[in-house]
Amino acid sequence: MTRSELIAKSRRVVVKVGSAVLTDPDQGLDRARVERLAGQVARLATAGRQVVLVSSGAIASGRAKAGIPPGRELSLPEKQAAAALGQAGLVQAWEEAFAAHGRQAAQILLTAADLRSRRRFTNARATMLTLLEWGIIPVVNENDTVSVAEIKLGDNDNLAAMLTNLLGAELLIILTNVDGILDDDPRRNPRARLIPEVERVEAELLRAASAQPGAVGSGGILSKVRAADTVARCGAHTIVANGLVDGVLDRLAAGEELGTLFRPRPSPLSSRKHWIAFTAPGGGEVVVDEGAVRALVEGGKSLLAAGVREVRGDFSAGSAVKVLGPGGVILGVGLCNYSSQELEAVKGLHSDQIRQRLGRPNHHEVIHRDNLVVFDLQEEESLACLLSN
Ligand code: GLU
Repeated sequence: MTRSELIAKSRRVVVKVGSAVLTDPDQGLDRARVERLAGQVARLATAGRQVVLVSSGAIASGRAKAGIPPGRELSLPEKQAAAALGQAGLVQAWEEAFAAHGRQAAQILLTAADLRSRRRFTNARATMLTLLEWGIIPVVNENDTVSVAEIKLGDNDNLAAMLTNLLGAELLIILTNVDGILDDDPRRNPRARLIPEVERVEAELLRAASAQPGAVGSGGILSKVRAADTVARCGAHTIVANGLVDGVLDRLAAGEELGTLFRPRPSPLSSRKHWIAFTAPGGGEVVVDEGAVRALVEGGKSLLAAGVREVRGDFSAGSAVKVLGPGGVILGVGLCNYSSQELEAVKGLHSDQIRQRLGRPNHHEVIHRDNLVVFDLQEEESLACLLSN
């Protein structure tokens, strides 16, 4: 598919704009940029697309409002306070800018917990789809003020990738302050060149990306590549482009080859399995033995308690946990029928022993096959990076 075909065929698009595009370190929110981008997003929508905007910039504009000098590192409570101070003006700026183009904007603030719970995930989807049906542009940001470090989504690149799956969008556009993904660190290698297209994110690209300088926001280049890889695995495209370039969205909409285009995987995960693998995991891990590795990877079987060796972390029944092989290799992610406490009590046991140990019958499977995503073991390095949040 060419770029023009991709744009023409994308009915639903997520546009993520980074803090470095929307704010200036001294002045804070750059309203002129917000206005220019709102005009372009409105044109995408007027051309018949449903557009969801993910806007960073709350912390960066809040700190400028509070008079905190650029460069001074903020503590977590300071970041959260700056987000609260900046978010109101940020969404107001979008609202006013869209109004000039006859569009309404609605604010949606999400936390990781909102997306980790299946019920809240599908509820957020229903809300956003309703807004889109009404012709309104949802403006989404992480609810930084109530997201503490351990439960943070990480960065808005990651949030935008999760929303691309949630909405079943065909395209994610990430606007940042560099031209796209380079093949090397430009500070070390002056001949580093823009990669126009990525068929599949490999470990080598992740290494090159992690060496590249980051932007003002929390993500940097690595988080963009990770987000694009996540999106590719739900069957959608990602374009990473420079949001400081005049008319960038208009030009992309016209099919111009700006930035780096990431192609989708040929056999993507279903939306639900993608959610299990990349949105739902909360930190719990289950280490299994060799026999279970074979049953899961080669036999396509469910995970039973008999194959569980070790339980890590604290989780409730129904949580998404990573399944690791004896050597620590990530085999997959699945929804666990047992809490970490229960699983600790029954690991290594057979079904009849489980009944005795718990004093009541329980699920036959620790993780049912239908709730398990098994990864391609060849991809260990890229998966470890993708799932490291
Ligand atoms: N949610 C943060 C903010 O609005 C930005 C996170 C990011 O830069 O990825 O300031």
